[in-house]
Amino acid sequence: MWLDRWKARRALRRKAIPEVLWNHALTALPFLHELEPGELRHLRTLSSLFLDHKQFTGVNGFEVTDQVALLVAVQACLPLLHMAPENRPWMALEWYDDFVGIVMQPSEVVARRTTHDDSGVVHYYTEVIDGEAMEGGPVMLSWPMVADAAVLAMDGYNLVIHEFIHKMDMRNGPADGCPPLPSGFMGHANRSSVYQEWNQTWGVAYDDFRQQVIMYQRFGAPPPWLDAYAASAPAEFFAVACEAYFVNRTMFTRNFPTLVPLLDAFFNPEGGTVPLQARVLPV
Ligand SMILES: [Zn+2]
Repeated sequence: MWLDRWKARRALRRKAIPEVLWNHALTALPFLHELEPGELRHLRTLSSLFLDHKQFTGVNGFEVTDQVALLVAVQACLPLLHMAPENRPWMALEWYDDFVGIVMQPSEVVARRTTHDDSGVVHYYTEVIDGEAMEGGPVMLSWPMVADAAVLAMDGYNLVIHEFIHKMDMRNGPADGCPPLPSGFMGHANRSSVYQEWNQTWGVAYDDFRQQVIMYQRFGAPPPWLDAYAASAPAEFFAVACEAYFVNRTMFTRNFPTLVPLLDAFFNPEGGTVPLQARVLPV
């Protein structure tokens, strides 16, 4: 504990965020204006610790400046804001301690993919992506989507939050839309009912959303509020929903009222927090 505190103090000195850079980040990310002064202070501390632990690499000619790194750090740390006591901020960063690398691209990327069909035949295809989170590996982000965070937030989009939510989701296996939950989550007495409530509520919301997307794409119904990409898999639905929860809570609450209590309980637990290591896994 003493060592943790000493390391954190050293990191805060080493990666102290200059006032001018911090103010730039606040201007660039208007959804932070809803935070209280104490929350902003805590977010700044988390961001310093994050910058001390992570290694940024610019590729394909992209230069990672302090400003770029800070914009990523602040948004990556926003979901962690209430996930550890303020006097032990390093505990929240444990969610991201399975990797150090963040790769910054100057634009979107064409990724080569392979898939196996039921008869074992391998298919090759390409996919254009703005970001990627690899299990146990780095996070890749394309700069234009990070730079446009203010405008994208109006539609509930946020690339950095999306990829870092995948990272949280992957702490108990491949991303499936269900991160490790604490025992006693939302008042549940045992671990199976903890996950039952999560999976049931998310499952119903996901099915509803998929229906809305089908009605929109095939029958000309109004488009759903939230990127239709969220209908591609439960893990994507969870990540896309969390983006909107953090950057446009008003619209998210209006459209997904059943998910708000679950996300509140997960990201802003009452009565303290449960460290990552003490969380229960699904039975
Ligand atoms: Zn995704």
